[in-house]
Amino acid sequence: MYTEIDWDDMVEFFSLRGSYNTWIQKGWKEIQFVRVREDRNLFISVPSTFTEDGQRECGKDAIRCLLVRLDTLRLVWQLKPTRREENWKRYLGIRLERLERLLELAGLCPNCAGFMIPRPTRDQSAMFWSCIDFPNCRGSRRIPEDLQHEILKQTRFYK
Ligand SMILES: [Zn+2]
Repeated sequence: MYTEIDWDDMVEFFSLRGSYNTWIQKGWKEIQFVRVREDRNLFISVPSTFTEDGQRECGKDAIRCLLVRLDTLRLVWQLKPTRREENWKRYLGIRLERLERLLELAGLCPNCAGFMIPRPTRDQSAMFWSCIDFPNCRGSRRIPEDLQHEILKQTRFYK
């Protein structure tokens, strides 16, 4: 069942997690909660749907969880969104833990030593580690079967 989440709920949730800051991307109205990993050239972003003057931009949309490239601001991976339901803190927490863990598991590109991100195969049936600099760099590595399964389940795909 839909649960209203107000600004204070979100601030409390992220303050308990630590290392998250609020940020407004240039050209956006929406405040994002971000965890920056400069060493990975990435940041985790959770758009809040709240604007600076406290207005909600959208209605009952689910909470998105994004992995964004730091230097180009390009979206590189997206988790399945979290519904605004009673247990949202628990589910969003699990998603963020997975994302944070993934940043620890992904290694460096064998070609250019850039950071690697999960990327689906063309038919979206499998995932592999791909250089963050794709398509400029084609460096890739296999993802172990069990982790691949977990990542596939969590990924939000677009047609
Ligand atoms: Zn590379």
